[in-house]
Amino acid sequence: MSTYSPPNQSDNPYIPFGDQRSAPFYNKDILSVLQFTRADLDYIFGVAHEMREMVTRVGTFDLLKGKILANLFYEPSTRTSSSFTSAMERLGGSVIPINEVHYSSVSKGESLPDTVRTLECYVDVIVLRHPEVGASALAAKYARKPVINAGDGVEEHPTQALLDLFTIVEELGKVDGLSVTMLGDLKYGRTVHSLARLLTLFDVNLKFVSPEILRMPPEIISELDQKGIPQSEHFSLEPVISETDVLYVTRVQKERFEDLSAYESVRDAFVITLQTLNKTKERMIIMHPLPRVGEISMEVDDDPRAAYFRQMEYGLYVRMALLAMVLGKA
Ligand code: ASP
Repeated sequence: MSTYSPPNQSDNPYIPFGDQRSAPFYNKDILSVLQFTRADLDYIFGVAHEMREMVTRVGTFDLLKGKILANLFYEPSTRTSSSFTSAMERLGGSVIPINEVHYSSVSKGESLPDTVRTLECYVDVIVLRHPEVGASALAAKYARKPVINAGDGVEEHPTQALLDLFTIVEELGKVDGLSVTMLGDLKYGRTVHSLARLLTLFDVNLKFVSPEILRMPPEIISELDQKGIPQSEHFSLEPVISETDVLYVTRVQKERFEDLSAYESVRDAFVITLQTLNKTKERMIIMHPLPRVGEISMEVDDDPRAAYFRQMEYGLYVRMALLAMVLGKA
């Protein structure tokens, strides 16, 4: 991607202000949350707000008319793939879905670089989910068109972290000063890896609650330490629940376990119920990237603190904003 310069758009001094090349993120890859500053977040969230307003007012509009997105998913997905599809279509663009790579040339042994070099002949932006760490960076190295990381193995899920942060801002009105508790599979959960990293841009207090074998990876703990983020690890929710502003619950990532008996030993380690809610602040939120497989009991869903369904909707606006930005229209 870095080598790509659009044809006939060299440094022309007569390009008017507002030309797409001056748009932040135009033609950029979205690979890791580490690429964002606080100013970037303000910008993205500002655009996301505009997207929400437009969706509420007109539903679908033509900002990306004629643009095409490839949704390339080597791992299962419901929300990420369908929200990117919805985002693109609400912006008037279209989508080539490759959700079942087994039916594509991948099953014939095609490499990821060749697959992205193929797709970019037909599309303007590629959204990629892949089981290997670093897959999106590899794809971006070979693609001239922007690549958006929709989850690379256990490493990162940057667009999820952006929508998670947007959810926090929308629901609680601020991020600085909050106590954020991440619960569940902190070892394999890429969403918590990205969110914890993104939160280092703020003045937050992080609490990690997990079974012993699913603790937050030491590299991430030391990254956060270097950035001076107050953090603590726990094996029980009890000591931290009453001071938590954001409880971010995750699923135990069964597909990452080599030993299924280890998975069985931790799968039900934490379950949020109405009893848990009795111990929380009145104004706090419970989030989950979904899918849930029993970590939050359904009886919690109707409580106003349960933000996980609203969180999905915020994701649409954030992904619309990102697509408009990388395609130079925001
Ligand atoms: N949907 C999220 C992800 O792709 C969370 C999960 O699968 O547990 O990482």
